[in-house]
Amino acid sequence: MLSDPAAAVWVSAGRPGVEAPAPVDGRCGRCGEAGPTVTSSRIISEKFTGLDAWPFGFRRLCVPCGWAYSRAPTTQPGMLITATTVTEYRGASGAAELGGVLAAGALTGRQAAVVPTTMRRHILPTAEWGHVATDGFVASWDGGAAARLADLAWLRSLGARWPQLCKPAPPHRLMTSQPSDQWGQIMAAWEHLRPWRAIPPMWDLGRILTNTNARTGGGE
Ligand SMILES: [Zn+2]
Repeated sequence: MLSDPAAAVWVSAGRPGVEAPAPVDGRCGRCGEAGPTVTSSRIISEKFTGLDAWPFGFRRLCVPCGWAYSRAPTTQPGMLITATTVTEYRGASGAAELGGVLAAGALTGRQAAVVPTTMRRHILPTAEWGHVATDGFVASWDGGAAARLADLAWLRSLGARWPQLCKPAPPHRLMTSQPSDQWGQIMAAWEHLRPWRAIPPMWDLGRILTNTNARTGGGE
């Protein structure tokens, strides 16, 4: 299904094959595409918990989905995906660079982002247009999400450390280190992050996208 972000990445990679018996016609258990499919058990373990999330059964995968699942999660870079382009963001500095892109505004319905945090899960197959896919979570990336990420980056640029940011209110010392006319804005940004603090994968996502620790001294 070429309208799917994982399939767009597969096309961008040159439509590679997968190590499985020759594909036969069927229906992909994950994306529902009818066409050449491979036996999913040749790609991933049937004990794989994510199978429950496949809406079309779990016996077969189309080649793009099979390819996406056959790649080791430990090698998954951050990605910004469109129907025709894939931009990769590797390492901590890459994640922070992608964070800058995501803080600038919403993803359109023709863009998708992939941001691995633990490098232990398959994320690319879960990517959706207009969303950021991270470990175990797919977040709609609208203007509100972009603004929250910008707030988080701003607070870290002021010197807020991660353990402090996990608390419901800013520390006194951070407030008094800033001009009093900024206190209201700091309080508002802190409060703005409250919904993300309650969603661990979202909070981890915000952290990795704003890890510019050279400036804040509080990256990890
Ligand atoms: Zn598929």
